Amino acid sequence: MAVLALATIASGCAGGGEGAGRPARPAPGQQPEKAGPPPGAAPARALHSYAARLRAAHQARVAAAKRWGLKKVPLTPPAPPVNKPEITTRKGFEVGDHKELGLPPVFTAIPTKDRVVFLTIDDGSEKDPAFLRMMSELKIPYTAFLSDYLVKDDYGYFKKMQDRGVGLNNHTLHHPYLPALSYARQQREICGMQDVIEKRYGRRPTLFRPPFGNYDQDTLRAAKTCGVRYAPLWAEEVFVDHWEYREWDQDLHPGDIVLSHFRGRGDWKGTMPDMVRRFLNKVTAKGYAVARLEDYL
Ligand SMILES: [Zn+2]
Repeated sequence: MAVLALATIASGCAGGGEGAGRPARPAPGQQPEKAGPPPGAAPARALHSYAARLRAAHQARVAAAKRWGLKKVPLTPPAPPVNKPEITTRKGFEVGDHKELGLPPVFTAIPTKDRVVFLTIDDGSEKDPAFLRMMSELKIPYTAFLSDYLVKDDYGYFKKMQDRGVGLNNHTLHHPYLPALSYARQQREICGMQDVIEKRYGRRPTLFRPPFGNYDQDTLRAAKTCGVRYAPLWAEEVFVDHWEYREWDQDLHPGDIVLSHFRGRGDWKGTMPDMVRRFLNKVTAKGYAVARLEDYL
């Protein structure tokens, strides 16, 4: 909303381009001027309109938070970092010759001081339309890791997700325990899913998450051959009724990657929106905003 408003103002002020020579169209919600504005008036008007839009956007967030039963309005994340942090493999998570072979880094958090966490959602069995609505209305970014055998009965559900700005990434074709497979079979599982996502969604993922978080050197070598650049794991997992933490302090930290799953009442004592409520209530209470993982890579 804010980005859209800015774009409208920017093109309204620029003067050149396609619209040059014709009277500038008012931004939506503005009163059209009968006569042209006096010189210098336009920027002030634009600023006023921008502030009004920010207020309206905030009011929409307040209303959405209330509608979806959140305890507080989710915090707005800072702008994506201009200089991306350097992502390295977490100590103890390396495979042999990890660096020497230039394999995708394996990590559980993004090194940042921003008070943000990242939501990632795996597998794809539950396809709840209420979840799509909730995340759009609350404007909460997240990243999906899809396994083909779970999503192929409804690729369209995830297309809607992609249309709303969600990154669709690789979680293998059949969700196997990869270290038990030969290099060739691992490559089929990982690179086969790269092909499915590219064919269905027009974009080849750069993020891959091994099923169960289990991998070996073959996994990362195979992934690298078909365009994978990062292998994010997670620092916390949120379920519909509890959290599980990787770290000893059992707490959230700036840059933590949070895992959840596309699951519903069949597997959980609740729905995807119930899970999101649990996630957002804790994240907001602890003073964190939810940012988009891809913006930090
Ligand atoms: Zn999984």
